[in-house]
Amino acid sequence: MNVLISEVGPRDGLQSIARIMSTEAKKIWIDKAVAAGFTEIEVGSFVPAKVLPQLADTAEIVAYAAGIPGLTVAALIPNARGAANALAAGAHKITLPLSCSESHSLANLRRTHAQVLEDARIIAQMIRELPEGQRPHFEGSLSTAFGCTIEGVVPQAKVVELAEALMEAGCDEVGLADTTGYADPAAVRSMIRAIWGAVGKEALTGIHVHNTRGLGLANVLAAYDVGLTTFDSSLGGVGGCPFAPGASGNIVTEDLVFMFEAMGVSTGIDLDALFAVRNYVQAQLGDEPLYGFTPLAGLPLGFVPATQQSTSNEGALA
Ligand code: ZN
Repeated sequence: MNVLISEVGPRDGLQSIARIMSTEAKKIWIDKAVAAGFTEIEVGSFVPAKVLPQLADTAEIVAYAAGIPGLTVAALIPNARGAANALAAGAHKITLPLSCSESHSLANLRRTHAQVLEDARIIAQMIRELPEGQRPHFEGSLSTAFGCTIEGVVPQAKVVELAEALMEAGCDEVGLADTTGYADPAAVRSMIRAIWGAVGKEALTGIHVHNTRGLGLANVLAAYDVGLTTFDSSLGGVGGCPFAPGASGNIVTEDLVFMFEAMGVSTGIDLDALFAVRNYVQAQLGDEPLYGFTPLAGLPLGFVPATQQSTSNEGALA
């Protein structure tokens, strides 16, 4: 596997639609995704059920997924209380969002940068108190890193400063998130290099981009070319309409996997099995629209995915 595709549909996708998927259906989705080759899935968010009833079963889903061998179970945590619940449920990776635009942070989380950073310190301490081998990977996510719908431009220097602050607070890693779909490939390249210059390459390996303005895959490719290796995406782009202002518009897992596999970059994911996961999720979501081009067009005639080539090479060596 050359790149890690982190499926965020069960969290980022489902939180953006009104329909509530049953706990059983979520478990089957996760099972099918693992069978298709996914090794990391963000399965939920530890927010109060009254805020996001779609994700009220996150603790149960995390505990279930943590029992699947080889799967890294990721969860979003809004604060220290959410982190405590995530640790109790057995999450392997927890992500604390820090909105680089303080206005956005105040509007959405009602918290200042200083308050979020204090939470990061508390969470890092909670993790240190766990026995070795039970400590989850702690990521601080730099959301609105490429611009904000309230403040507009977010200076690169501010993002770099917050990346340093998150690492100092005790995060294992920071992640970049283009929450608003403002990024472009040049901005992505420049931002990654600036953050690496401040905190080191091993402290930033992944990016979460949106397709709000159609640049999602271009931004992923820019990040890959510079050297990032982990990319978030949502099956069928669940929960985001690319043409609706303010919609999240996650990039579509199927198209992302196709792009890498076509380039000769192995994702470890089987595209036909992935299309079957899509069909299952579509059946569960009824008339909720799914997005993406590859599932509708089908694979090119004679297409040999990189993952299949690497598997057959391993077979030849064995
Ligand atoms: Zn997203």
